[in-house]
Amino acid sequence: MSAIKPSRRWQPAFYPFGNERTFKRLTARTELLIKGPLFGCRMCGNCLLQETAFICPMECPKGMRNGPCGGTTPQQRCYIDETRYCIWDRIYRRAEKLGREEMLLEVLPPLDWNKAGTETWGEVASLIRKTGTRTFFSALLSKDREKKERVWDGVFKTIRQPAWWQGDSEYHAPAYNEPVSELERELRSGRFVIATEVTPPLGADTEKLVKDIELVKPYVTAINFTDSSSSRPRMSSIACSKVAIEHKAEPVFQISARDTTRTGLQADAVGLNAIGIHNVLCLTGDSAKVGPSPTSNMNMLDIDSVQMLWILRRMRDEGIYLDGRKMKRPPRLFLGAATSSFASDPDMQALRDHKKVNAGAQFMQTNLIFEPEKLDAWLEALDRRNILDKVYILIGIAPLKSYKVAEYLHNKVPGVTIPAKILQRLKQAGEEAPVEGFQIALELIDRIKGKQGINGIHIMSLGWESIIPQIVTESGLCLNHSTSRSDCR
Ligand code: SF4
Repeated sequence: MSAIKPSRRWQPAFYPFGNERTFKRLTARTELLIKGPLFGCRMCGNCLLQETAFICPMECPKGMRNGPCGGTTPQQRCYIDETRYCIWDRIYRRAEKLGREEMLLEVLPPLDWNKAGTETWGEVASLIRKTGTRTFFSALLSKDREKKERVWDGVFKTIRQPAWWQGDSEYHAPAYNEPVSELERELRSGRFVIATEVTPPLGADTEKLVKDIELVKPYVTAINFTDSSSSRPRMSSIACSKVAIEHKAEPVFQISARDTTRTGLQADAVGLNAIGIHNVLCLTGDSAKVGPSPTSNMNMLDIDSVQMLWILRRMRDEGIYLDGRKMKRPPRLFLGAATSSFASDPDMQALRDHKKVNAGAQFMQTNLIFEPEKLDAWLEALDRRNILDKVYILIGIAPLKSYKVAEYLHNKVPGVTIPAKILQRLKQAGEEAPVEGFQIALELIDRIKGKQGINGIHIMSLGWESIIPQIVTESGLCLNHSTSRSDCR
């Protein structure tokens, strides 16, 4: 990172808002003056530079503290501001060069906003004093690596991993035995699962929603309801999930960090079981940048998807809220994450996915895949990380109804790339594009379903729900992989 790093930033530097003592204020200004040019520091007051290859991630518009979102452009630029490189791509590359990439696995906490804008040097100094100044510096100079790490962590890990978070780089197996949902039961049984997505309605009328749910229900194990995808508000995922339960279908409730605070997430989590929801898919969510005008806040989320998983897993398995309060009856949740398999190179993407699995993801649904041959490198990278037996993977595919839809996805939806030959086929098909799109979907499924490490298909309908039964039956998924609930014929 260059020493002349400061320039325009999405995240402005945080400044103390309280009436702080002059000494503290001066220390904060000095810290910003030094750490700003050196590391791109934004004075978040919750320093994690050791874990991010000494590059501050806080210039990321989304405020991602645990790795990139799935939206980097093919040139690894930030999709919210294409004049800038994705800061997380920089962090990964630097970490790789320094041999520190495994440090990126540590699940890092969200901001303690009370500390935003304040200095961390005072805290560092007081922790060094606590360790013993001589002990600290002699350990740093010693050749004993273990001792060095212990003393270093005693100071810096205490700062970046406060008692209310205690994030680590380990896998935490779910602390329960019986599956909590039909989706989990099916996946555990080893069946090839089919999930789909029903588009939430624009208005308050649920007639079409119910019709679509009834139409796809016999052919799939679970139905996802998006949470205002592409930042375009629609009926909420929680309301659609409730409607699905009333019609005896199994919902996957999607929740995006874009519209969620830590308070809202925890409140939702304890209420989900009360209305019958058990499958939860945690997403960071598309930026308001890709949504309609007038544009909502594009700057800084309260939590990211990794943090959501960590919070929900601890609520479920340890029965605690983030603030440490205990609950008598924790929610029973089957936790999922989204992955953008081709967003970065396979090893980097696998590292990001590994982190999600460690944080709590039990199943993953990929972004739309139009180049199944590229999946092999990603699956091999996951296998090298030894996580394929810890997470169920469902590959996202979509039937393309027209060239216009394909063009929109390719150009406007972060993380989706459609190869030129598919775009060409749809263009040439003209009015027959729906037939061609259907054929392309069948071909994709055929190339995906035999792959090792894949546990199912997630068909994103993109508003074309009526085609789902035909895709499931004609692709052979119904005959060869029908679920115990399915009555598809
Ligand atoms: S918003 Fe996404 S693409 Fe942009 S810097 Fe942050 S992680 Fe990278």
